[in-house]
Amino acid sequence: MTPRVAVVGTGVVGAMTAWRLAHRGAAVSAFDTYSPGHDRGASAGESRIFRTAYKEGGEYVPLLRRAERLWRELERGTATDLLTMCGGLTLGPAEHPDVAAVRRCAEEHGLDHEVLTAAESNARFPQHRLDDGEIAVLDPAAGVLRPEPAVQAALRAAESAGARLLPYHRVDAVEPTASGWRISCGDAVFDVDHVVFAPGPWARALEPLRDLPVEVRQITACWFAARDVAAHRPDRLPIAIRRHHEAGFSCFPALDGVGIKIVPHHLGFPVLDDPAGLPRTVDSEFARAASAAAARLLPGVVPHPVRIGTFAEGFTPDEHAVLGPLPGSAAATVMTGFSGHGFKLAPVFGEIGADLVLHGTTEHDISRLDPNRFR
Ligand SMILES: Cc1cc2nc3c(=O)[nH]c(=O)nc-3n(C[C@H](O)[C@H](O)[C@H](O)COP(=O)(O)OP(=O)(O)OC[C@H]3O[C@@H](n4cnc5c(N)ncnc54)[C@H](O)[C@@H]3O)c2cc1C
Repeated sequence: MTPRVAVVGTGVVGAMTAWRLAHRGAAVSAFDTYSPGHDRGASAGESRIFRTAYKEGGEYVPLLRRAERLWRELERGTATDLLTMCGGLTLGPAEHPDVAAVRRCAEEHGLDHEVLTAAESNARFPQHRLDDGEIAVLDPAAGVLRPEPAVQAALRAAESAGARLLPYHRVDAVEPTASGWRISCGDAVFDVDHVVFAPGPWARALEPLRDLPVEVRQITACWFAARDVAAHRPDRLPIAIRRHHEAGFSCFPALDGVGIKIVPHHLGFPVLDDPAGLPRTVDSEFARAASAAAARLLPGVVPHPVRIGTFAEGFTPDEHAVLGPLPGSAAATVMTGFSGHGFKLAPVFGEIGADLVLHGTTEHDISRLDPNRFR
């Protein structure tokens, strides 16, 4: 019998799960409060980093390799460019934990990589200023993703495979029935066999997920105009993770013809009560501090942001996702809390979601993401 599956939330994770489920023959209904590719949650803002030498842990490397293959499959199936492999730099003091972890991951997994001195990096990538004694680790299996087209491509692929898309349908309640689940959106109800919860930072607003330790945090991105835009495009500028004693940020090459984007990590990711309360702007103190980091470390940009965007993301206490069967509930899968690094992995997370719905298990190692670890 064809399983009827509801996917609640079609940010990148829900969209990919809907695609992989529909592709494998499930009858999918995919709900979202907003429009595909919207900017209220975690899956928007022009660019996302893909990298393989993973500071968050070597156990992600097989997942990242599979994700890259699925990104390519989605690109082929939808005739859309989503991932540009421009390489990735991790820049900073050799002893910084993130720099050391990237290097260790590359060495332990036999990944291609280069280690450059500050002088070598400054000559080859003058867009970043390194201080004496700092190093650059170059991961060639890294690149930049386009989030809004990616969400839309995954949903298009899901729909082509038979999924029913329901944008502008906020799920108000998900309740167990004798044989599955009842989904309520206003007056409309939908009965399904299995539910996949992919609500991003809205997790705790859904009753069955209320006890998960997923905190809503605000992540802010700043765009700076480049003096020479051509030098900051992906064919000349890799993505970067910058660590420095004065600042730390992720850095994305120019996709829009204006300049580069940074996400300043050292300025923090404030906790919000609810994604609905996401401020759509920042105070001038934040802009001044981001400008100071750009002036110090990015010599090719005008160090005053031309654009600022703020987004909501769900974070867990250990900053690894919650992905697996929902504790205590039959026929429900939860996928949330991607803690600022879920985008690149979304296609493989979607494949895992489909495995769990259709077979109750997956061959991918997701032990680190077990929802039971917080109980
Ligand atoms: C600024 C920023 C930069 C980032 N940089 C990177 C990066 O470089 N690389 C990387 O890999 N990751 C990065 N991340 C993390 C990554 O983008 C997220 O982990 C990922 O997008 C999470 O996707 P999601 O589908 O879980 O959440 P979301 O995209 O927030 O999607 C959840 C969806 O569920 C819907 N929803 C919620 N509740 C309901 C309901 N009751 N009914 C119906 N719909 C509902 C919402 O409307 C939303 O569309 C970054 C995140 C941010 C915010």
